[in-house]
Amino acid sequence: MASLEPFVPEYWCASCRTPFLNSAPLDSAGLCPLCRDGLRAFEGAYSFGAYEGGLRRLIHMLKYEGVRPLARPLAEMAVRALPKDLVFDAVTPVPMHWRRRWSRGFNQSELIAREVARTLRVPVLKATKRTRFTPPQAELTISARRRNAEGSFRAVRGAVVKEKRVLLIDDVLTTGATAGACAAVIKRAGARSVTVLTVARADRRIGLAMLRGLGRGKNSVGAVQ
Ligand SMILES: [Zn+2]
Repeated sequence: MASLEPFVPEYWCASCRTPFLNSAPLDSAGLCPLCRDGLRAFEGAYSFGAYEGGLRRLIHMLKYEGVRPLARPLAEMAVRALPKDLVFDAVTPVPMHWRRRWSRGFNQSELIAREVARTLRVPVLKATKRTRFTPPQAELTISARRRNAEGSFRAVRGAVVKEKRVLLIDDVLTTGATAGACAAVIKRAGARSVTVLTVARADRRIGLAMLRGLGRGKNSVGAVQ
């Protein structure tokens, strides 16, 4: 754990922190086309490290081997990636479909969210739920990821996110399609802002063309071209 280093790519979007191969997709303010055109449902995305090596191993131990006490140190690492001046009113995990949660016995994002909330001293909210049992995102292309993620979340009735600055927690961020779909639902429920925090980020540095399909709605392709 002591050997783990924060992930600092050379080129990344100042808002969603997507790492890029070069500076081509970024404008003078450092924003990628999706953030520039308001196609991301979240205000920012922060992660502690790259999803590889020791960090990947720790996340796997929590997720697949059920080493639940790892949620605390992983949450503490994630919190270190947050800018100190950001303030949140509530923390909420990316939910898991009840069927997967039942077979795994827990939702790792929920365990991490609880620890993040404790560290930040804010409440945990159950803001959304998964309505579809979707295939693992890892097996899908970027545009298939977005289609897969869209419509698979629903706001939990009675969850009070109105006017709140919400911190959305997941274990790993890959393209941001899942977090984006979940954030969009929280926004529609009235949240003032949604910021994504994950322990790790897949270090898949992408080029401009690969941004296609990552934004919200059909027009995102046109906006990126
Ligand atoms: Zn961006």
